Amino acid sequence: MARLFGTNGIRGVVGREITVEFALRLGRALGGFFGGGTVAVGTDTRTTADLLREALVAGLTAGSCDALLLGVTPTPALQLFVARRGLRGGVAVTASHNPAEYNGFKVIGGDGMDLSRVDEERIESSVAAGNFPEIAWDRCGRIHQDPGSNAFYVDAILALSDTAAIARRKPMLVLDCASGAAVHTSPEILRRLGCSVTSLNGQPDGTFPGRPPEPREEHLSELRRTVLDAKADLGIAHDGDADRAVFIDDRGRLVHGDRALAVVARERLRGKPGTVVTPVTSSSCVADVVRENGGEVEYTAVGSPVVSRRMKEVGAVLGGEESGGLMFPELHCAKDGGMAAARMVELLAVTGKKLSDLVDALPAYSLARRSVSVPAGSQAKVVAGIRAAVAGEKVLTVDGFRIERPEGWVVVRPSGTEPLFRIYAEARTPGEAASLAAYAEGLVRSALR
Ligand code: MG
Repeated sequence: MARLFGTNGIRGVVGREITVEFALRLGRALGGFFGGGTVAVGTDTRTTADLLREALVAGLTAGSCDALLLGVTPTPALQLFVARRGLRGGVAVTASHNPAEYNGFKVIGGDGMDLSRVDEERIESSVAAGNFPEIAWDRCGRIHQDPGSNAFYVDAILALSDTAAIARRKPMLVLDCASGAAVHTSPEILRRLGCSVTSLNGQPDGTFPGRPPEPREEHLSELRRTVLDAKADLGIAHDGDADRAVFIDDRGRLVHGDRALAVVARERLRGKPGTVVTPVTSSSCVADVVRENGGEVEYTAVGSPVVSRRMKEVGAVLGGEESGGLMFPELHCAKDGGMAAARMVELLAVTGKKLSDLVDALPAYSLARRSVSVPAGSQAKVVAGIRAAVAGEKVLTVDGFRIERPEGWVVVRPSGTEPLFRIYAEARTPGEAASLAAYAEGLVRSALR
């Protein structure tokens, strides 16, 4: 049976992996999975959103679910709406940060969280089997419109923010929504918080004319330039569905996602220790500041749905991953770009500090990454070989192997989708990081022999 769900939902190129027939079939499978009740459906701004949503909703309603159409809305807004309104579930029609030709589906349970792998497998086998029961005319679901999720989300974030402290400082921001779903929420959140906002790519446009929807350094040169030209305090860039926020500091430098997490963690834990959840590949700067402030780090496998679930289980005070997905449990345990933007602005206003100073005060580490291809089908053998080879080391096996050394750490883990091993090493110096990565590559190669 084909695996449909990746780490963050189902995605592919429209007309190739993601077709209208597939959307209908998925809708029918989800109709059976949810088994009735109301399912919210939102989209990002992609040009194929309407087409795929219509097909998906036809399937959902043929499976006796009512569909509640939210229109263009950030994925975290849909998640919050589903959970707080007590709906049966939700579907975000989005390909997140992927280019314009991609689209996909992120399925949300009634608790507003990503589905478990077991539930995903049930849906995958239902899509594969394709024998959907025809239901009687008087049991078909209906379609309703409720464009209220954006206002609901904006109000929920504002209610949790220290608007007085922010309005006193009136921070100057440059906001780059990439013409994605954030255009309907983030400008309003930040203006109502009392910020002065310069907007880039603030019109909804699924061709993403200003920049690609992935907020990586090479796509953010206009934002960096504008931050410097305007002498702004902060630049904020969202991805296509606005579950991520990436920050540019007042010196025009991109702040890596785990360094942003560390900055937020340090302020949050001060005087109020708790647990911070993050994947095993997170920079040690997170663990350093968390432990310095009496907190604990809980490491998970790579992928934000795992981080969300673990946060809920351990009652964490904060979670996040290196791509810029920060999670604030006082709102919900979900990656949330709008909330991250509001919290970062609040942090700057309350501390009165510059983001550049906060970031530069963090311990500095060097990262080395590489991947090693292996013959198809050999992953289990390599894993067994590495396990035997590292028996005498200090190892964490939450996701592959994280080998701790005095100078740093290295993670070596099998890819879930390709015949290769991914290696991430971090140490105090580039040379030490490179030699840790080389050591891990050696482990993979020896295990193949
Ligand atoms: Mg996203």
